Amino acid sequence: MQLSRTYPTEQQRLRSTASVQYTNVGCNSCCYRLLHRRHYCRRMFALNHCSFRTSLVIIILCSLIVYYYSWRQTNLFDISRQPSKSVRILYLVRTSARFYEKRLTHLLETWIALVKSDTFFVTDTLLPNIAQDHMILTKETCGLDAHTMGSLCCKTAHDFQLYRRHISTYDWFCHFDDDQYVNVDNLQNYLSTLDFNTPYYIGRNSWPSTLKRTKHPYPTPFWFATLGAGVCLSKRTIQLLNPHVQNVSQYVDGCIRENYHDDIYLGFLLHAYLNIPLTKNEHFHSHIEKTFYSNQQLFLHTFRDDITFGFRADKRYPYFLPQIDKSILDPLRIRALHCLLYTHLNECQRKLQQHLFNSTE
Ligand code: UDP
Ligand code: MN
Repeated sequence: MQLSRTYPTEQQRLRSTASVQYTNVGCNSCCYRLLHRRHYCRRMFALNHCSFRTSLVIIILCSLIVYYYSWRQTNLFDISRQPSKSVRILYLVRTSARFYEKRLTHLLETWIALVKSDTFFVTDTLLPNIAQDHMILTKETCGLDAHTMGSLCCKTAHDFQLYRRHISTYDWFCHFDDDQYVNVDNLQNYLSTLDFNTPYYIGRNSWPSTLKRTKHPYPTPFWFATLGAGVCLSKRTIQLLNPHVQNVSQYVDGCIRENYHDDIYLGFLLHAYLNIPLTKNEHFHSHIEKTFYSNQQLFLHTFRDDITFGFRADKRYPYFLPQIDKSILDPLRIRALHCLLYTHLNECQRKLQQHLFNSTE
């Protein structure tokens, strides 16, 4: 015998439910029709309500997706975009008014534009187009600028005055020279992996081995980082350094007493008095490195991972990169490097197009 099971239709089911529920109260057929209609209406309403809610969720989701993509576009293509603020870095650039045209403009129009509000300058005299509260002037205290131990030490002593002023706003304090390119995104990513409440002294060792100190006090060898590759100090280091850099003359006297250049003296202070070792980072580069740009293939393979780049006219720059902008001279290819790293920037797209198609638009 075939067992067949027939399912009641929806109407039958409703009717039976209604009769089960209402026969006991003696509902007649009129009453039943009324109840049935009400029940049906309620279900219809529930259905409409349900599809309305689904549509609403879909609309909200679509709006969110559209909003996200427009936000992403704006952020990707806006040259004044600031990298994530999760790591608060103060960028200090040591320069001289006489280097404004030759060096600084290339930086101002490339990496500094990305972190403008966090960049400060130590300079002998006023620089054009830069807010006064973003500069510290050294001529009064240090005298005429010169590339000498005393003069540069005096200038560097101002770094700590500036750091102190901004200690509550920033967590990392980085010194750069005006002949350096900084990949600010890489720097942010790197520093975000470290704790700024731990004393850190980060940079590239200037010499291939330690400075063999034998004189007192502290006759022990130590590493020091070249300021020419950039040096970053954590907030904790700045706090610990404070008693040793209270004023400009304290630092200058230290350099002269020890007969150390500004970066060597910093390394010495940190090593001898504070026991803070150098954290070497091979992605910081200065123009001291002879071979950094000599292997084009290697450079093009690795430069995206680097944090700082140093330049010098005698082939210590990526000379193999093209001069992509016809209107602005790019002698050290700083602008070309910037556009290679940030190809999506409007300005770079335009320059690249001009270069490739030789157009003037
Ligand atoms: N500098 C300065 N005044 C000078 C000479 C140099 O402030 O009279 C700064 C310069 O702007 C740069 C740093 O010191 O930030 C190092 O100078 P430079 O790159 O000319 O020489 P380097 O020592 O790197 O060969
Ligand atoms: Mn230099």
